[in-house]
Amino acid sequence: MTPPEVVGIGHVEKKAPDADQRVQQLLALNRAAIAITGELELDSLLQRIVDAARELVGCKYAALGVLGDDGYITRFPTSGISEKERELIGAPPRGHGLLGLMLRAGRTLRIADMSQDPRRVGFPPHHPPMTSLLGVPIYVRGSLVGDLYLTDKIGGPEFQEEDEWLVQLLATHAATALTNAQLHAENMHALETASLERARFQALFKVSQAINSAVQLDEVISLIVDSAMTLSGGVGAAVYFLEHLPADDEESDQRTVPRFVARYAVGLDESLVAESARLPMVGSVAGRAVRTGETQVVADTAAEPGTVFPKLANASLRSLVAVPLFANGEMLGALSTYSDQVDGFDAESVQLVEGLASIASTALFNATLYEEAMRGREAAEREGQRLRELEQMKDEFLSTAAHELRTPLTTIRMSAGLAFEQIKALLEAGHDGVDRRLLDLVGLVQEGSERMQYLVNNLLDLTRLEQGKTTLVLRDVDLREVVNASVAATRPLFDSKDQTLSVHLPETYYEVKGDRDRLEQIIINLLSNAHKYSPSGSAIEVRVTRKGDECRVMVRDNGAGVPADERERIFERFYRSSLHRNDRTPSTGLGLPIARTLAEMHRGRLWVEEAPGGGSIFILALPVPQSATVPARAT
Ligand code: ADP
Repeated sequence: MTPPEVVGIGHVEKKAPDADQRVQQLLALNRAAIAITGELELDSLLQRIVDAARELVGCKYAALGVLGDDGYITRFPTSGISEKERELIGAPPRGHGLLGLMLRAGRTLRIADMSQDPRRVGFPPHHPPMTSLLGVPIYVRGSLVGDLYLTDKIGGPEFQEEDEWLVQLLATHAATALTNAQLHAENMHALETASLERARFQALFKVSQAINSAVQLDEVISLIVDSAMTLSGGVGAAVYFLEHLPADDEESDQRTVPRFVARYAVGLDESLVAESARLPMVGSVAGRAVRTGETQVVADTAAEPGTVFPKLANASLRSLVAVPLFANGEMLGALSTYSDQVDGFDAESVQLVEGLASIASTALFNATLYEEAMRGREAAEREGQRLRELEQMKDEFLSTAAHELRTPLTTIRMSAGLAFEQIKALLEAGHDGVDRRLLDLVGLVQEGSERMQYLVNNLLDLTRLEQGKTTLVLRDVDLREVVNASVAATRPLFDSKDQTLSVHLPETYYEVKGDRDRLEQIIINLLSNAHKYSPSGSAIEVRVTRKGDECRVMVRDNGAGVPADERERIFERFYRSSLHRNDRTPSTGLGLPIARTLAEMHRGRLWVEEAPGGGSIFILALPVPQSATVPARAT
């Protein structure tokens, strides 16, 4: 829309100004232009334009009617009228009569005497009398933004063409200043939005960080509630947890009613945060969010008279947003933010609350996992502690029992031995009064007490070893000698079952640091087990080798072997392999645990492997002392 040409109404005096006057006018215009273009704040700018126009043309009154979106005047700054007079006049004009005509025409209007103009509607009461008028439109970027009205020219009956010309020039400056002010306002708005965006982003970032670093639910949720309130521009916020509370009716204590408890809240009335205060599931906005699984926005609480709303601490609640909280597919509750303004949350705020709600859900989920893990760990620790105590009690009992049994057992065994010899002698002497079965009975007592003594000794040995009451006597030992001594001790066993025992030893000295008797005890145990658990006539092999920085004694048999899942368990106290549990083979289940404990006391290892082709290989590995010579190959 281009500015239309000037339409003059009334008498125009055609008097060309002289050069000096023109210079003065232009200087005045320049001053006015400087005064208005220096202002960026809209209200002040409008006022300056009006003041500058009045001064420039020299008239009693000036006003600026700013056109609103509805086509009527929205602002009406004036100059030359006191505050008091303005108050008396009342509401500013909307733009009916002459002003409206001008606004709609968008053209300059000059009237010598308004009272004579047929288009006027008249002044309101208390309006000062005004005669001459000069109205000039202001266009900003091609659009009409308002009109400058100047009335009652001083020093003449009416406004001249000169005045028109000056005010029109001023209007172009005013347009520039208005454009600047508008751009400035847009800029400020953009800056505000950007800084709000930044603040929101930073807060979201902070909350996410807190979640990563804190597993404490309380800490994280409090942070979320605070952020939800501040960032959405609300005055309160709360996280409600869905809880299943026992129903109030007395008939049944089985029934539960789902309700909300605000475990975390800010800006709400104290009573709601109290333990007893809850929001009902049906009838509350949070309940609706949970039931529908969707964000609920209430722009004006007054529009929902039937709904139950929480109370704000310092204002009345006018609008709210409630977002459901899901964690791991389970509905946990809702995050709500509250405003004391109608329509208090724009789309961005709603999005932000939704973002925070999803962070809150993650936090809840993590915290639940963490709490479960902590509970599990504590339970495991308690159980571990209980087992340790039981184990200790068992050890103490076994050790005391073994100790107490030792002396009477020795007496029984010795007495039985003595009785056996004497009965045997009597029988051999052909004594009639002696029943032969007595000898067998006493023989059984003797045998049983020997086995018991063996068990008790082993038990005492093991408990002492485990309690660290036994120390090793370490010397440089040739492993070959230890193996030879063990073989010699067990040879009769193998012979008794027609088992062949082959021994493979290296040619040179095989040195280890160890307690000779204890090493022998280990190897004898392995050899006697090989004898016990392999069939008559089978072949057993013992071999000494070196692997890496370990010397190894390997005892291999052709027995049934040990099932894979029991290869560790047979080193536990009293454990018998499932293959032998029903055997009549005399057994204590203590030999291997003692042997392993002794091996470990030598910084060695003891384990069992499956022998190729069946049977077992028990391996005792002992560290080679640093100074030991490299041994030759085994023969
Ligand atoms: P015991 O032989 O007195 O039962 P051990 O502690 O020496 O006690 O052995 C524990 C269990 O390991 C045995 O009961 C047996 O089931 C199994 N076992 C030990 N040596 C062998 C072996 N050479 N072959 C098969 N099973 C064995």
